[in-house]
Amino acid sequence: MNNEKLYLGSHVSMSGPDFYLGSVKEAISYGSTTFMFYTGAPQNTFRSPLDRCKIEEGRKLLLEHGFNEDKIVVHAPYIINLANIGNPSVYDIAKKALLSEVQRTHAFHAKLLVLHPGSHVGNGEQVGLNAIIDGIDEVLDKDNSDVKIALETMAGKGSELGTTFEQLAYIINNSKHKDRLGVCLDTCHVSDSGLPIGNFDEILTSFDKIIGLDRLLVLHINDSKNPVGAHKDRHENLGYGYIGFDALNYVVHHPKLTDIPKILETPYIEKNPPYKEEISMLMNNKFIEGWREEFLKKL
Ligand code: FE
Ligand code: FE
Ligand code: ZN
Repeated sequence: MNNEKLYLGSHVSMSGPDFYLGSVKEAISYGSTTFMFYTGAPQNTFRSPLDRCKIEEGRKLLLEHGFNEDKIVVHAPYIINLANIGNPSVYDIAKKALLSEVQRTHAFHAKLLVLHPGSHVGNGEQVGLNAIIDGIDEVLDKDNSDVKIALETMAGKGSELGTTFEQLAYIINNSKHKDRLGVCLDTCHVSDSGLPIGNFDEILTSFDKIIGLDRLLVLHINDSKNPVGAHKDRHENLGYGYIGFDALNYVVHHPKLTDIPKILETPYIEKNPPYKEEISMLMNNKFIEGWREEFLKKL
């Protein structure tokens, strides 16, 4: 019944003692066919040395389980802010951290690095966008790997950039390294930015016109705790938010997006990951009414 190719998974942790081997085991335990990880804590740039990360052990296991390494996603730490050029030390730290993250992504044999474009924090949209372009160019000048940076669509809270397709297209089209840039579309963020996921074909048409569909490299599949246009960025479990299961399931199975890795970043339930349940509903094309209540009862 289900011979459709689907690269679907969640973000998984990457911490000691098992590091990458643990990440792969976690993805397998959810029934995933791909996954995303941070190469350290998401909120800081402290990173364990690569020789401690059990990369080869993890790779051996993932290849045995039939994962495609080209579809594995790394997420850069979200404190990197390439738009805050008004603060030279912050800008400098951001560039150093991004270069290290691109190199780490390559060391894990992954090819996709998701990056939040940045917040202009009062410097103004245009100044912020240009700072992002210069920062990315400076970093990619120093790295010759095949890692691509997927700029994430943002919800538009505070002074976030990358909230419209136009801003993302501007960054990509003005970079010297256009061939290494693409987009990660986050369904919660896009909905919060003002575009209803229920009209997904319209969203794809406009994405194609403004950015180009070949630039879409990663999808983040999240429901939203807030209505369209709320600019909040609070993810919700599948079927419990304003987007709803059917609209998200439509995105996941969209025939134009077959080759793109799809990653859940929905919230934990009482400190437990719900990804096995959510992934299975998407794989089976079927929402289970009350699944979260059932999940809670079993804890
Ligand atoms: Fe993100
Ligand atoms: Fe996301
Ligand atoms: Zn988010």
